[in-house]
Amino acid sequence: MVNTQSKLLFEKAKNYFPGGVNSPVRAFRSVGGSPLFIEKGKGSHIWDADGNEFIDYCCSWGPLILGHANDKIINAVDITMRKGTSFGAPTKLENQLAELILSFNKYIQKIRFVSSGTEAVMSAIRLARGYTKRDKILKFEGCYHGHVDSLLVKAGSGLVTFGNSSSAGVPNSFVNETIVVPLNNKEAVIQAFNKFKNEIACIIIEPLPANNGLLIQGKEFLEFLREICSTNKTLLIFDEVISGFRYSFCGVAGMYNIQPDIITYGKIIGGGFPVGAYGSSKEIMSFISPEGDVYQAGTLSGNPVAMSAGIAQLTECLKPNFYLDLETKTKYLVDGINKINSFNLFKIFSLGSIFWIAFTKHETVKAAEEIDANSMSYFKILYHALLENGVYLGPSGYEVGFMSEAHSYEDIDNTIIAFEKSLKKLV
Ligand SMILES: *Cc1c(COP(=O)(O)O)cnc(C)c1O
Repeated sequence: MVNTQSKLLFEKAKNYFPGGVNSPVRAFRSVGGSPLFIEKGKGSHIWDADGNEFIDYCCSWGPLILGHANDKIINAVDITMRKGTSFGAPTKLENQLAELILSFNKYIQKIRFVSSGTEAVMSAIRLARGYTKRDKILKFEGCYHGHVDSLLVKAGSGLVTFGNSSSAGVPNSFVNETIVVPLNNKEAVIQAFNKFKNEIACIIIEPLPANNGLLIQGKEFLEFLREICSTNKTLLIFDEVISGFRYSFCGVAGMYNIQPDIITYGKIIGGGFPVGAYGSSKEIMSFISPEGDVYQAGTLSGNPVAMSAGIAQLTECLKPNFYLDLETKTKYLVDGINKINSFNLFKIFSLGSIFWIAFTKHETVKAAEEIDANSMSYFKILYHALLENGVYLGPSGYEVGFMSEAHSYEDIDNTIIAFEKSLKKLV
């Protein structure tokens, strides 16, 4: 594979941006080598600056559930854009996207649009603190919630800990408000509530943790969280930035029929444009300004171009069997790869249209500490072999893959063949 152009562009980019990128994982550090600069995408395929073509399972890290450059989204955006791109005043399109979401989602009654998943989570945390008048928050090791200061915290040693900052620049005083416990561990959560009675504003969890491998939690664990939150007047936040509109239209809340207090969205909601959102009951949302005194605002919030992309995308997601078809295709891919994985070098876990390749001997992986960091050296080799064979995954073994509506069975068959060839390299 020739990647002269990508390499040149990356050398240039290093002069402009820290590490040559505007978001760290793009730099290919965890798989080694030089990142591919993408020239264009259509449907399930992308082309890089050297003209190499790939079947894409990164899908912009999840937002592109209809694939690249979907005609319906492009047409909607085109029409809106010609009428002006931003007003800083309300538009009808915000109502339309909200109505589309709220009329099919019984888990939230009101919503606020923001411009990223991080912003959604940051605002949801502030709302939970403002509503409960408590400061401490509880998060799980292995869940990612964007680069919110108080959530860039990893577990210390011990079952229930104030974590350590996972980023320079996060003050200890912030870290000291964040309790970190392992996933899938009721005992740790109970201990945290015993230790910090009446102090915990919220529990935040990715109900389908998909940013550090795919750590599928049991329904029962999520129900337990619901119960312990209710008992302690603590709010339960489902961070569905990745699982919302992905696993089902109503995300994991809908799939398991669990009522969280606040839900955050991002990724798919904006049809490939920067949109995030958080929603809750009318009562809790009444604490947000200008109705209430929890301040939250945004110059480009509810941007009309992004709203029209979101409307176009979510309308497609509501078609009958949309999610079933995605899941069936994903199973077909997983089964196909399992058939040729004769040396049983890795497992492939999946739920709905999300899949994760894990170099592990375990039958299930439910918590961050069950992931073997050394196994990533195998992923590295597999990753580059797959690129050579025309398959593009997110460039890290901790990242999941996404199926889109645009992926055809022919694409999937070709992907399975690419895996078969790539595995030979690994052996
Ligand atoms: C991607 C993601 C975020 C952060 O969203 P950005 O749009 O990247 O800021 C937060 N939470 C979860 C669960 C995510 O997957």
